[in-house]
Amino acid sequence: MRKHIVAGNWKMNNGLIQTESLIAELKQQSKTSDAEVMIAPTFTNLWHAFQSTKQTEIEVIAQNMHFAENGAYTGEISAGMLSSLGIKTVILGHSERRAYFNETDESLAKKVDAALANNMRIIFCFGEELADRKAGNEESVVGDQIKNALFHLDPDAFTHIVLAYEPVWAIGTGETASPEQAQDMHAFIRKTLADKYGAEVADSVSILYGGSVKPNNAKEIFSKPDVDGGLIGGASLKAEDFYAIVNAF
Ligand code: 13P
Repeated sequence: MRKHIVAGNWKMNNGLIQTESLIAELKQQSKTSDAEVMIAPTFTNLWHAFQSTKQTEIEVIAQNMHFAENGAYTGEISAGMLSSLGIKTVILGHSERRAYFNETDESLAKKVDAALANNMRIIFCFGEELADRKAGNEESVVGDQIKNALFHLDPDAFTHIVLAYEPVWAIGTGETASPEQAQDMHAFIRKTLADKYGAEVADSVSILYGGSVKPNNAKEIFSKPDVDGGLIGGASLKAEDFYAIVNAF
């Protein structure tokens, strides 16, 4: 059975004090589902969050990293630095990184390799823009994003990869993909993987949906057979809402 995962991407929100209080509130919630729970605070709060979630079900993960191991890259953070904190999972390729920080398929392929070289798990994000969907190109756009950044990998690498489909038009807009739109795309993603790596690999990879997932729509989205979890933005900043989504499985 594929893993169910609900990951909270806090984006550039919460200083140290808010991080402390949100984690304290998260610890009061109880999990009734089989989903793995992850939170991605900002870099400066990773160590604190990691320490204060020890002995809980919550895994603290990173939102990004650089592809180089170290060197003259002012302001950047490497996979080795994250690993040295005990961080085992990193989000790569979020649409905000692609749109505002010029991340490309090529730079993402390098980041993927660097994370794997450090034995990290990757939540690899991709998704089409509204114009792509209006033009009927959503599958070719998503297919290319996956192929260009991941299809140089050996099949074994996919034990360390989680995919996250986040249609750009649904992020932070309150507009979600319908459960059917999510399922159709997730099935396409799984077929894309199967065509390259075979059904066994394709069936083993968890595919998360992200884009305005809320307590009131999570259950229906998660009920779809190829939706294995969610990457949650806004609703992950409220402990009760986040756990309502965690418990929607
Ligand atoms: P929202 O849930 O705020 O739409 O954000 C989704 C997202 O970008 C998670 O990475």
